[in-house]
Amino acid sequence: MPIYEFTCQHCKRNFRETASIKDKKAKKISCPECKSKNLQESYSTNSPKSCSACSSTSCGSGCAGCH
Ligand SMILES: [Zn+2]
Repeated sequence: MPIYEFTCQHCKRNFRETASIKDKKAKKISCPECKSKNLQESYSTNSPKSCSACSSTSCGSGCAGCH
């Protein structure tokens, strides 16, 4: 499963979460510190699945560069 990196908008904590795309879209991810679901997603630079064409780790079918 892909690893996503988030910044909590509530307590500004940065954390990484392994989640399926389905879980991410369903917003099942919450901050481990304050349990807030108000998260800003940021992309990890050392993710092995990072796409060179669009710099996204979750570009899916929307990106022509890596699929
Ligand atoms: Zn938080």
